[in-house]
Amino acid sequence: MRLGIISALHEEQQGLVEAMQRPYKLIHGMREYWAGQLWEIDAVCVLSRIGKVAAAMTATTLVEKFGVTHILFTGVAGAGDASIAVGDIVIAESLVQHDMDASPLFPRHQVPLTGLSHFASDRQMASNLAHAAQRFLERDLVNAIDAQERAVFALQAPRVHRGLVASGDQFVSHRDRIQALGGALPGLLAVEMEGAAVAQVCFELGIPFGVIRTISDNANENAATDFMRFVKSVAAQYAFYIVRRFCQQVSQANKVSAGT
Ligand code: SAH
Repeated sequence: MRLGIISALHEEQQGLVEAMQRPYKLIHGMREYWAGQLWEIDAVCVLSRIGKVAAAMTATTLVEKFGVTHILFTGVAGAGDASIAVGDIVIAESLVQHDMDASPLFPRHQVPLTGLSHFASDRQMASNLAHAAQRFLERDLVNAIDAQERAVFALQAPRVHRGLVASGDQFVSHRDRIQALGGALPGLLAVEMEGAAVAQVCFELGIPFGVIRTISDNANENAATDFMRFVKSVAAQYAFYIVRRFCQQVSQANKVSAGT
């Protein structure tokens, strides 16, 4: 496995790059790609920047230029449903571009000429991520984020959810908008701006991928303030510890299957 790890925000990537063994940096297409070893996994970390085009370009480059075999996207997202709270973790099982609409030529949300509106993530990666996320919440959270921050964000008992994530080139920050998206996309758990673009690229290139998102805001009028605070003090820890557990699980499984 050569794992491409895409983060949307600087805060989420920094800890991973610092943890890399024998890191080296390559600049391509206005982005810094950090290649090295992360907990015994061959990895390439990169900041996609924000939005679907930025994410699609980054995912394509990871595959075509850096030869990654799997892609993992870590980031934050707005809650897509009232049952999802700030601090919860959403693992995408499928992803849809909520702003794709070529109707009446094609059904709403369908990506023209693929016949698909929802793109499935890799099942094995999703279940590894769910396991890593659950362990993080049970074992690492208390040490990773200090009590004061946990109180500020009411992180008493965060949960892991698996299901539908919607992406679009829009920061969702109105109650009406998130409700309309939820109405149009049954089962919606989270909204963000990159995941479904990575999903389409990975589908077209035949690359298994996973998307994990920590809920930073409720995609309503408070979203911008909540988002900024959350990213500064909480999101980076979530991303770091979950990716660490994920890589450790994968390298352990590799050792078992290699019989070492
Ligand atoms: N002001 C920020 C912009 C961040 S955009 C900055 O200067 O960096 C929000 C990022 O977090 C995107 O990468 C998106 O994927 C995710 N996100 C978090 N909450 C979101 C929401 N409510 N709607 C859409 N994307 C959201």
